[in-house]
Amino acid sequence: DLDPPNVTTTTGSKNPENPRDTLQGGLLAKAFDQKSCLSRYQSSLYRKPSPYKPSLDLISKLRSYEKLHKRCAPGTESYKRATENLHKLSDGSGEQCQYIVWVPLSGFGNRILSLVSVFLYALLTDRVILVDQRNDINDLFCEPFPDASWLLPLGFPLANQIDRFNWRSPRSFGNMLKHHRLISNSSIKSFQTSYLYLHLVHNYGEYDQMFFCQGDQSLIREVPWLIVKSDNYFVPSLWLLPSFQSELTKLFPKKDTVFHHLGRYLIHPTNQVWGLVNRFYNAYLSRADERLGIQIRVFHRAGFLQLVLDQVVSCTQREKLLPEAQEEEPPQVNISKLRAVLVTSLNPEYSNNLKRVYWERVSSTGDVIIGVYQASQEMHQQRNKKLHNQKALAEMYLLSLTDNIVTSAWSTFGYVAQGLGGMKPWILYKPENYTVPDPPCGRATSMEPCFHSPPLYGCEADTGGTDALKIASPFVRRCEDRVSGIKLF
Ligand code: GDP
Repeated sequence: DLDPPNVTTTTGSKNPENPRDTLQGGLLAKAFDQKSCLSRYQSSLYRKPSPYKPSLDLISKLRSYEKLHKRCAPGTESYKRATENLHKLSDGSGEQCQYIVWVPLSGFGNRILSLVSVFLYALLTDRVILVDQRNDINDLFCEPFPDASWLLPLGFPLANQIDRFNWRSPRSFGNMLKHHRLISNSSIKSFQTSYLYLHLVHNYGEYDQMFFCQGDQSLIREVPWLIVKSDNYFVPSLWLLPSFQSELTKLFPKKDTVFHHLGRYLIHPTNQVWGLVNRFYNAYLSRADERLGIQIRVFHRAGFLQLVLDQVVSCTQREKLLPEAQEEEPPQVNISKLRAVLVTSLNPEYSNNLKRVYWERVSSTGDVIIGVYQASQEMHQQRNKKLHNQKALAEMYLLSLTDNIVTSAWSTFGYVAQGLGGMKPWILYKPENYTVPDPPCGRATSMEPCFHSPPLYGCEADTGGTDALKIASPFVRRCEDRVSGIKLF
């Protein structure tokens, strides 16, 4: 059983002599019961303090968001009124609380990326974020906001429709737009709908993509309830919107820190997950002088095992993340350093092989001992299984506690780890034609996740295809691991 850990150990502290910045430079609010969510306070025992300080604007935005959330959360009069009005037309009075409901979709990495994106959108538009709680969210993350829940009540009036929302739904933003049903009549201040479904999934079409257009944002702004499904980190495209740009620049003067700050603000593993992190970290990683994370995600067909292993060895040795391994004993030197390698993968073979490499041979420098560890070998990706997802979160978190990280191209699992850890990863490029890519890996330009499916269409009906990159070039660039994707840098 996964008991909540009763941990007071500081053996994992990277900086035991440093005063602990448990509130992460003011990012986190004070008003929490520590025991209910140990990770919120104990993560600073394991992490180096982030070199990226949150801006004062971000801190004050978060504090005012928390007040708004408390005022509008489930259980309040405002929430009650807003749900009662769900089936009425919006009167556009602007007095009521407005909401955005996040619905989980796809793998766990995708979920965290879309959750952070939706939260940023909520911050920018003064909406309250509520999360669909039917898929173990409560077993994975602590409540992030003080004195108020972020869980969408199970009795939410649209609860039984949420699963059926997709790009075909008549209430989807794209369809409403296409069929001219989304009209705001500002003279009489009435609006055609009190809720909209936003389909921001990789397969979205040109009308749904107009979510990222200025004019359409002013329409959406009037709608009290938004329900969103997304498997993507759509933050980079929010920087395309002129109305958000100036605020985003103030909130994030260093623009490649969006996920780093918001992820650390929002994502706090529950005590059960924290137990997994804690026990593994203290058993295998805490005593090492250096920690390297290697995240291996193989999307290809079978037959790639040796190839990916060769790629990992070639990348880590070429980039001097690991020493070369040689047959002959080097001149006797005292062992001075322990380097722990945390491998995460669905399969055990990569870490077993790497372990063998450094056990059967000698590291070329002689003075380094390499320990290779893997926490789980789940073999297959599963959805909505509590312990499986808890392990995935624990491993993402463990990766984020390392000093350097090697990730796999295209993998959102790796994006979460690098962002939480504040690390620019070395990305293992995708192998083509059964050969190890040359170079096998490259350093990312920023720690931000990649938006895999940015909008392809322009905002005016007659512009045809447009290049998102051209519009937003001061802010975004193409992703290193996916040319069709964009990322903040
Ligand atoms: P992506 O598919 O690589 O973008 O990452 P996701 O996290 O969205 O989906 C992959 C899912 O497979 C994870 O959520 C886990 O359920 C599982 N998975 C993949 N790699 C690992 C791993 O290294 N460890 C664990 N525990 N689960 C993994």
